Amino acid sequence: MPKLELHWQILIAIILAAIVGGIVFNTFEATGVEPTLFGIRYLAMFDYIGTIFLNALKMIIVPLITSSIIVGVAGIGSGGNLGALGGKTLLFYATTTLAAIIVGLLLINAIGPGYVDGEPARDLLALDTPVEEIAAKVEGRGVSDVAQVFLRMVPENIFKAAVEGQMLGLIFFAILFGYFMTHLEDQYASPLYRFWDAVFHVMMRMTEWIMKFAPIGVFGLVAGVIAETGYKAAGPLATFAVVVILALAVHAFVTLPLLLRFIGRVRPYGTLKACAQPMLTAFSTASSSATLPVTIDAVEDNVGVSNKISSFVLPLGATVNMNGTALYECAAAMFIAQAYGLELTFGVQFSIVVIALLTSVGVAGVPSASLVAIAIILAAVGLPIEAIGVLMVFDRLLDMARTSVNIWGDCSCATIVARLSGEQTKVAINPEPDGRS
Ligand code: ASP
Repeated sequence: MPKLELHWQILIAIILAAIVGGIVFNTFEATGVEPTLFGIRYLAMFDYIGTIFLNALKMIIVPLITSSIIVGVAGIGSGGNLGALGGKTLLFYATTTLAAIIVGLLLINAIGPGYVDGEPARDLLALDTPVEEIAAKVEGRGVSDVAQVFLRMVPENIFKAAVEGQMLGLIFFAILFGYFMTHLEDQYASPLYRFWDAVFHVMMRMTEWIMKFAPIGVFGLVAGVIAETGYKAAGPLATFAVVVILALAVHAFVTLPLLLRFIGRVRPYGTLKACAQPMLTAFSTASSSATLPVTIDAVEDNVGVSNKISSFVLPLGATVNMNGTALYECAAAMFIAQAYGLELTFGVQFSIVVIALLTSVGVAGVPSASLVAIAIILAAVGLPIEAIGVLMVFDRLLDMARTSVNIWGDCSCATIVARLSGEQTKVAINPEPDGRS
């Protein structure tokens, strides 16, 4: 029997998890007792399986980011080449993120989920209840946090940055390390290059092995979410969730494919199919960082982007380029502003867009990370931070969706940058005869 491809296995796991999780949730709702198997709570089991899988992916991140960026930058060579590739990459990251935010802004303005019958939905959402727990989590955050993003780029201790998961600092250090390697004499540069390249290859092999367990891990993660929250929907919040999903879909299925088609000159849906596995992994883990190994694997093997480009563009993108997150941040802040009945002047909307763009760069690639960024935006436009509480209802579900779009954005940028750098790839329109595909 032919073996089912991994992304199909993952998709089936997600569907099964939604069914099983739903049954567990409904049983709990109906009986008030948490269902168990041999005395063990289902929820604890799902959590256990999911956590092992997530930890396995996370344990690779620090060595993977370090080795891939060092190898990537050292492989690009001289300062001129690095500048050109870095420039193209950052330009694409900024443009696609801005495009995503604008789609979100337009749809939120057009549909207005924060109003019910033309009135701000403030009371319906019980927006006057203080949510101490969340307020405490984001306490002391403010506009100055935007500046902190850049401060974190230069950590005082690189090992501390790695331990604390400060990826921006690690990335900056690895870029410098790779760059200065190219300034060494060959007797020093070559062994260093071979060492880091070997570390990178081991990490990729480990990823492929861990991904064999993905269907089981994904089942645990998704079943856990559904068993805990069910398919709850509540008035304006449900409308908000639908608007966010719609905006994410427009970005994923219209904006990015147009860029891929006309700037990258590749087959957009062929590229999407090639990236199905990392997108489904992102959907299940809600973490761009944890998905990174899978993203690199798919972009190199299925899309056919060279290691030279993917090992620079993708680790950078997993932290810096978050199309879905930026869109969500803007949509969430606008929704809350609408619900409070705040006058949405051009100035307010403009600040929301700019802060969403800047903070999405500093948001870590872990679940629910954008809540902190939303707190920054709310504080900046003068809204109470406690309003974040209402977003919690759908946060996990929307986190899964936006993280997939984050990853799709990274894959698209890597593909386009590769094409603009003269690579053929496996998804190019009219492959040239001497190409790689
Ligand atoms: N979970 C997202 C990611 O890892 C970040 C966020 O939007 O919360 O890409």
